[in-house]
Order: sequence, then structure tokens, then C-alpha cells
Amino acid sequence: MAAKEKTEKKKLGLSSQIFIALIGGAIVGVLIHYFMPEGYIRDTIIINGILYVIGQGFVRLLQMLVVPLVFCSLVCGSMAIGDTKTLGGVGVRIIIFYLCTTALAVCVALSIASLINPGIGISLDAIETSEVTVAESTSFADTLLNIIPKNPINSLAEGDMLPIIVFALFVGVMLAKLGSKASTVANFFSQFNDVMMEMTMSIMTIAPIGVFCMIAKTFAGIGFDAFLPMLKYMGSVTLALVIQCFGVYMLLLVVFTRLNPITFLKKFFPVQMFAFTTATSNATIPLSIDTLTNKLGVSRKICSFTIPLGATINMDGTSIMQGVAVIFIAQVYGVNLGPAEILTVIATATLASIGTAGVPSVGLVTLSMVLSSVGLPTEGIALIMGIDRILDMLRTAVNITGDAVCTIIVSHQNHALNREIFNREDVAPAKK
Ligand code: ASP
Repeated sequence: MAAKEKTEKKKLGLSSQIFIALIGGAIVGVLIHYFMPEGYIRDTIIINGILYVIGQGFVRLLQMLVVPLVFCSLVCGSMAIGDTKTLGGVGVRIIIFYLCTTALAVCVALSIASLINPGIGISLDAIETSEVTVAESTSFADTLLNIIPKNPINSLAEGDMLPIIVFALFVGVMLAKLGSKASTVANFFSQFNDVMMEMTMSIMTIAPIGVFCMIAKTFAGIGFDAFLPMLKYMGSVTLALVIQCFGVYMLLLVVFTRLNPITFLKKFFPVQMFAFTTATSNATIPLSIDTLTNKLGVSRKICSFTIPLGATINMDGTSIMQGVAVIFIAQVYGVNLGPAEILTVIATATLASIGTAGVPSVGLVTLSMVLSSVGLPTEGIALIMGIDRILDMLRTAVNITGDAVCTIIVSHQNHALNREIFNREDVAPAKK
């Protein structure tokens, strides 16, 4: 018995392994950046060869699961919920939570930025600018219309989350309506869903290697000198992200559910690290759904709907960056923002992320919308582009934490949260 305990203790859990890989990867990346001479071996073989292929290979394995997993689990989820009334209730609640937490996030960001004044005393020449190649963002009307797929197969092929969600919900509700008449199709989706979940778990066993390579590549390629004039800006964004993640969310969790925030953070940590490493909410969907169901006791019916929806429409971390960036750019260009403009920033930053997929750097695209809404030059984005990668990683971790917290709250309100699983000591998933 004692010997068994010893071997169990010796075996590091997956989260500790990922954490060690993250720190190790960052150190190796910095060492490569500063101590390895530039050239074919460093750049082509190590950074863009080994590290890139293994890191991206891992992300692609998870991305490969996103569309089939989201589709199947949503069909199963809506089929199990069955009636459109309950489904609508969950939908309306989660959207309200998503919008309110985003608006809160922008307020936190604006307050921190107004206190720290990141752009005052900065001269434009001190900052390395990059060329702005920001794509046009879609209008609000089109964003709304795009939710309805013209061709669902095309949406699935393109990985457009919102139309996929709409179509899957429809299929699920119809399957529930048809009952035993469509049992073959229903069984197919439910079994395929199990296959996808099992695949997620298998792929996660190689997560430490993938995380190590991705982080090492990112840090090997980052020029830290560009950070210096931007430290105040980066500090403001980071502080606001920390307040949102560990203050606002944890408070909401306690107030609405009376659950222990430390237990949540402990169990959700690997998901945050994965989001941090990949800077992609979308790729984090399978892991997030898996953790919420198996470790935090959320009903799969609910989180298979709310998590993909959140990855697309709820980006609190991104709107924090946008709030701080607006103040920063306004200060650098010497523009004064009045109360009306501040309100406009809150509204546009809250709405900007809706309909945009959770992929790296999308926050910069939607930032152009927020800047133009208050008449600031979109060229201002060039000031922050160079150092955005690290902030992108941080804000993606906050984005997916917001989705998870809102999901837990809505689950609790719908009596679909298993508190026993939430409070249970974290154990390795049992082999089926
Ligand atoms: N990378 C972020 C995400 O995937 C979006 C962004 O802020 O650029 O959630």
C-alpha cells in the first residue's frame, strides 16, 4: 500500500508536466535567442524545423478535433435537452453573462489604463512600429446574418463556429422530436462524440512535448528589446487581466455558486496553460469541455453549447487589451477622450469580438473597429503589434477562463452542476 502510494506520488500529474514544459520551453527559447548564433542550424533546423513542426503538429491534432467534436457534442447536447424552451433559456442566460463580463472587463481595463497612463511621456520614435496589415472587420449586420449558415457543409469545412452551432442545435432538436424514428442517426452522433472525447484525452498525453516546443519557438523568436518602451502598456494590460481573472471571475463564482475558487483554478490550470501556449481559444475547446465535464462537474449538454459559443463571442481578455490600447494610443497621439467616447469604447469593445473566431491576433483586427468608433487613427495599432504575441497568450488564457466561469454559473442555475465532482480530489481519468 505504502509502496503504491509512493509510486503514485512520484508520477507527476499532467498539469505539473505541462507547467514544467512551459517554464522549460521559455528558458530554452530565451537561451536560443540570446546565445545561439543566427544561421541555418538555429533558424532553419531548430526554430523553424524541429520546434515548429512538433509544436504545430500538436496544435493541429487538437484543431483536427474541434469541428467534429463541437458538432457532435452539440447535436447530442441539444438532443438530450430536447425542448427548445430550456435550450433558449440556457442560451439567453449565457449570452447575458458573456456580455456583462466583457463590459466589466473593459471597465477594469479603462480604469487601470487611466490610473497608470501607459502612453504619457512616450515618443513615437521610441517605439518599433510594424506595418499595419489589419484585415477589414465585418459590419454588425453581416455578423448577425452570418450566424445562419447558407450552406452548413461549407461552414463545417471552414470551421465557422456560430453557423455550426446554429445548425447543430437544429439537428439535435429535430432528432429529439423524431425520437425512436431517428435513433440510428442519434446513436451515430452520440458514439462519434465518445470517439472524439477519447481522442482528446489520448492527444493530451503528449501535451507537455507540444507545449515545450511551442513556447521555445515563440521565445526564441521574440526580440525582448522591443518591450522596453512598452513596459507600462504591457504592465497595464497584464494587471487588468490578472484583476479580471483572479478578482472579477472568482468573485462571480463565489457570489453565484458558493463554489471554492481555488479548486476551480487548480483544476482549470492546464486548460489555461494550453490557451496561453497556443493563443487560440478555438483549439482549446476540446480540452475545456473535457475538463469542465470530467473534473468540474458541469453537464456536457450545457458546456458543449456554451464553450464553443464563448470561444467565438466572449473574449474578455481581448477587450481588456483593446480598452488599454485605446487609452494608450489616445495618449501617444495626444487625443483626449471624454465620457461619451469612453462609453462608446465600452460598447464597441464589448460587441467587437462577437462573430470573430478565437485565433491568434484576432484582437488586433477588431481593435481597428474600436479605434475608428472614437476617431482614433487605426495606424496606432502598429505601435502595439510588435509586442502583441505575449499579450495575446495571456489574454487567450483569460478569454477561456471567462467562458468556463460563466458556464459553471449557468450550469448551477440550471441545476446541471455536479458539486461532488467539482469538489472531488483531482484523480487521473479512469480508463474506460
Ligand atoms: N487569441 C485570442 C483568442 O483566441 C483572440 C485575440 O485576442 O486575438 O481568444
